[in-house]
Amino acid sequence: MSSPYDILFETVRIGPVTAPNRFYQVPHCNGFGHRMPQGMAAMRGMKAEGGWGVVCTEETEIHHTSDLSPYFEGRIWDDGDIPTLRLMTEAVHKHGALAGVELSYNGIDAPNLYSRVPSLAPRSMGTVGGSGYDPVQTRRMDKEDIRNVRKWHREAALRAKRAGFDIIYCYAGHGMTAAVQFILKRFNDRTDEYGGSLENRVRFFRELIEETKDAVGDTCAVAVRFAVDELLGEDGITHQGEGYEVVAMLAELPDLWDVNVSGWANDSIPSRFGKEGHQEKYISFVKQLTTKPVVGVGRYTSPDSMVSAIKRGVMDMIGAARPSIADPFLPNKIKEGRVDDIRECIGCNICVTGDTRFVPIRCTQNPTMGEEWRRGWHPEIISPKKSDKEVMIVGAGPAGLECARALGQRGYDVTLLEARKELGGRVLRESALPGLNEWRRVMDWRLTQLKKMKNVAMYPSSSMTADEIIESGTQNIILATGATWRRDGVGRTLWKPIVGYDSENLLSPDDILETGSLLPKLQNIVIYDDDHYYMGGVLAELLATNGCNVSLVTPASMISYWSQFTLEQERVQAKLMKLGVKLYPQNILGEIRKDSIRISNTISGDEVELSRDGVVLVSDRMPNNSLYYELKPALYEGRINSLRIIGDAEAPNIIAQAVFAGHLAAREFDEEKVEGTPFKVERIPVIK
Ligand code: ADP
Ligand code: SF4
Repeated sequence: MSSPYDILFETVRIGPVTAPNRFYQVPHCNGFGHRMPQGMAAMRGMKAEGGWGVVCTEETEIHHTSDLSPYFEGRIWDDGDIPTLRLMTEAVHKHGALAGVELSYNGIDAPNLYSRVPSLAPRSMGTVGGSGYDPVQTRRMDKEDIRNVRKWHREAALRAKRAGFDIIYCYAGHGMTAAVQFILKRFNDRTDEYGGSLENRVRFFRELIEETKDAVGDTCAVAVRFAVDELLGEDGITHQGEGYEVVAMLAELPDLWDVNVSGWANDSIPSRFGKEGHQEKYISFVKQLTTKPVVGVGRYTSPDSMVSAIKRGVMDMIGAARPSIADPFLPNKIKEGRVDDIRECIGCNICVTGDTRFVPIRCTQNPTMGEEWRRGWHPEIISPKKSDKEVMIVGAGPAGLECARALGQRGYDVTLLEARKELGGRVLRESALPGLNEWRRVMDWRLTQLKKMKNVAMYPSSSMTADEIIESGTQNIILATGATWRRDGVGRTLWKPIVGYDSENLLSPDDILETGSLLPKLQNIVIYDDDHYYMGGVLAELLATNGCNVSLVTPASMISYWSQFTLEQERVQAKLMKLGVKLYPQNILGEIRKDSIRISNTISGDEVELSRDGVVLVSDRMPNNSLYYELKPALYEGRINSLRIIGDAEAPNIIAQAVFAGHLAAREFDEEKVEGTPFKVERIPVIK
């Protein structure tokens, strides 16, 4: 039977190789890198199993003079790296997909903190990668250095071929490699044949492509990754200026163009600031200049949008990092006509924090992401029930919903009870905040799945007490009752209630989430943010948009400090500044008075008084765990069989962790308790 999506499953010839379909997992970081190759290989293999026709590595350092430590990226420095990379190519080939490697020589992006040799770059300048401000300056490449880097790139390509890769990249994206740094005027002040005119600045990139083709082009496709616009206007590459010209100059040279916008925060724009297909207007010219296949990204999760992008001639292959993380089985689901089952990415960029916090990748929507090897988790398969035990879950936030869904998938009879009229918990409420609308997908996907399960009964408007739970006779109870924002300012910075916390018009985020906006019309609002992720900034945006004069006070050195790890911080701050929110970083709350608050600088101790009508305290949350402690005696007395508390009710955390906790509890239910570390650890063998 033909389907409107058949076009997505056409094969695509890429130089000497053929992709089985148009689904292309573009290179993406993952926090595993060279340090945890088994985790990386299993994660990539899962994408291939789920139908992605091409699956690529992350940026992969080709030489020790391009060392991105402390970040864990791919590494192909010498033959010693081949066996670990082969783990990935074998995992990908097992499912009939092509494996791609993104060779990368990072120039000013590589501070070489591990290898301790000078970084080589078009000019001598402070490195910009890593922390962004490492006190490290590069050495300007002379002709011999340029020849060497080309040789190293060629050797890395040959090694990549031996490791089994089908597609070998020359990477000139995100401002992060020497290839693009030569092209960029701001990083290239050379007067030799590698500087000056665009033709000269492109020379190094052209040589890399030509030499890679010469080395491995007989059996491997040679792809380029090139950012056609940096969104910096005339200070950078633009898609109407040099971005266009570079593509025109090299049009037929590579076997595939993988094009995007740069830097990473523009490319992986969070859903708060960019929607599906956000890159189309920048990249759509590329196909007019080349006959080679073009890959583009834009967080496509809708098959209709994908088909449209292909039919409109924007791209030939649907590139994806985040949609493939949220749902490794997205292609197969489309193929099988199960579009409703696609777990759509919400654009929160928690996946990015794998790289930026140096830990294995995790995903808000897909709790199995990063757990493929160490816990043996599969995103679509879960072990069937072991018994006819029935489970009661109290609380239908992300933890309760995911737990019910996964237990339901296992075949258990589940009763899910929720005090409120609507299911969804914090996700329902928070997704009503400015910019967070797509986060609703966390509950929408789960509710769609749950509604299909005859063995799961859901009861909203059912606030449960411990007595009612026991009287129901249920033997197995999982509590996912969430957490409540504190109202006294206590948190990581203030260890005792702030003086004046009981005065008038003190609000917690819950108050604002409940009412949708500020009930009493308060003009001057001070928000105290000791949470540091999105809540303080989002509430400031909400209140400022509603006409309040907002001051945002935080002990951190940055506004919404942790959102730097999700690539959101600069945009959050820019938005607040535009809205006229007054920002007070590095300030701690001193005292709340009737009409004012006193804050003091965390470094100098200098005090400032801000007038206030209302104060919003965004600090710690109190776990809603009273049911758990009320029920525990019943467990000891044998009146109930099992009791578990999960998610924010156990320990408040991000939504991704609530989903994970729900999933973990479902996987572990009715299973034997494992003593010791409950997952495999990648250890370095001791060489004697
Ligand atoms: P998490 O992020 O851990 O899933 P949430 O705060 O999003 O937590 O969700 C917890 C849900 O539990 C809320 O929707 C809340 O209304 C519900 N809840 C809390 N206590 C009870 C209770 N005693 N009976 C039923 N539902 C409850
Ligand atoms: Fe999408 Fe968020 Fe998952 Fe990343 S963590 S893939 S942005 S849902």
